[in-house]
Amino acid sequence: MSEKTIALVTGANKGIGYEIAAGLGRLGWRVGVGARDQQRREDAVDKLRANGADAFGVPLDVTSDDSVAAAARQIEHDEGGLDVLVNNAGITGGASQLPTTVEPATMLQVVDTNVVGVIRVTNAMLPMLRRSASPRIVNMSSSVGSLTLQTTPGAFVGPIAVAYAPSKTFLNAVTVQYAKELADTSILINAGCPGFCATDLNGFRGTRTPEEGAHIAIQLATLPDDGPTGEFFDEAGPVAW
Ligand code: NDP
Repeated sequence: MSEKTIALVTGANKGIGYEIAAGLGRLGWRVGVGARDQQRREDAVDKLRANGADAFGVPLDVTSDDSVAAAARQIEHDEGGLDVLVNNAGITGGASQLPTTVEPATMLQVVDTNVVGVIRVTNAMLPMLRRSASPRIVNMSSSVGSLTLQTTPGAFVGPIAVAYAPSKTFLNAVTVQYAKELADTSILINAGCPGFCATDLNGFRGTRTPEEGAHIAIQLATLPDDGPTGEFFDEAGPVAW
């Protein structure tokens, strides 16, 4: 295995994921750009390399068992292992998400991407992460998934979004479950909220830059060995569940 820290960022061709890859690249890490579209993936890898990052492309659709398995085989074969996984890929499922009118297909697609996709990728990469000296898993969540904030009068956490928000609540709960099972390993797994960032996800309405949004993921990817696990953070500190 290379002496460099090897990382994989899912959904790294644009938005916050791209900036996470760029930030990890600036640490001198070798960074896998997980992306489902060949052209978008190659463009991102080229841009990262032009900016000095040691980036490589990983074809990856997090909703496909075959694609995820092939990505794990590629990383094992070409890189010899994996130290850090950032589960960043995510979708909202569209603007109209009232509980009374949502399409069941939208619910399934959002959960498949934002929750099951994380489980698929994590489990495929786990054999490599288990062999790493300082393995870290970062799940890109959102404070809109915080049940506490959603039920606190006056706390603004965004519009009603019955697919997206609960998918992040589900992801947070899944993060805790992993942390419990992996408690006797050196793997630290946490959920992070990037804040409201201007990306395709929200029609560029966010008030933070994607680069600012990437900070929390980089912090959680570089936690010390005695760092937290099974917790939920944004840049200001712990976020209520
Ligand atoms: P973008 O829409 O800009 O980027 C999403 C990324 O995920 C793209 O690279 C997209 O690829 C990828 N993706 C979507 N579906 C899949 C799939 N099935 N397989 C592989 N990749 C996929 O969103 P952001 O950068 O804003 O969001 C990144 C993460 O941060 C998400 O998990 C989001 O929920 C979270 N987040 C974002 C916030 C914000 O304000 N922007 C706030 C809170 C959380 P493609 O180009 O092929 O579609």
